[in-house]
Amino acid sequence: MTDLQELYQSVILDHNRKPRNFGELPSANRHADGRNPLCGDEVHVALVLDDTGVISDVKFTGHGCAISKASASLMTAAVKGKSRADAEALFARFHALVLGQDPEAGKSLGQLVVFSGVSRFPVRVKCASLAWHTLKAALESEAAADQAAAVSTE
Ligand code: ZN
Repeated sequence: MTDLQELYQSVILDHNRKPRNFGELPSANRHADGRNPLCGDEVHVALVLDDTGVISDVKFTGHGCAISKASASLMTAAVKGKSRADAEALFARFHALVLGQDPEAGKSLGQLVVFSGVSRFPVRVKCASLAWHTLKAALESEAAADQAAAVSTE
């Protein structure tokens, strides 16, 4: 492995061991459940979308492989405080990165660039993008819905 790959690996392992923004968010007004049946990853994303369209808080719970958990951790850290439009634009760039569609995508993604290697492993792309698909489903869910929106990567 190159030094860069080792660095990326250590960031992913760190977020897997100590996930940021992990836990319940009772004040959430949007939430969704995501499943990746291929790997068994499950994630619940809860967020507060305020009156100005900003994600003022976001948390996740769930279980799965190291990549899915680290991705959920880094996703919440990346979108907290961002507008819905900015979060969705970030997802589009992240998706291009993990699919290997845009070699330049990593430049504007900050720490999320650690998932660039995933594009070489198609099965892992779903692990890395699950939390983001779930975020999108949560943003698209009706405010204060009793039922969480659900998304499956299959
Ligand atoms: Zn997985």
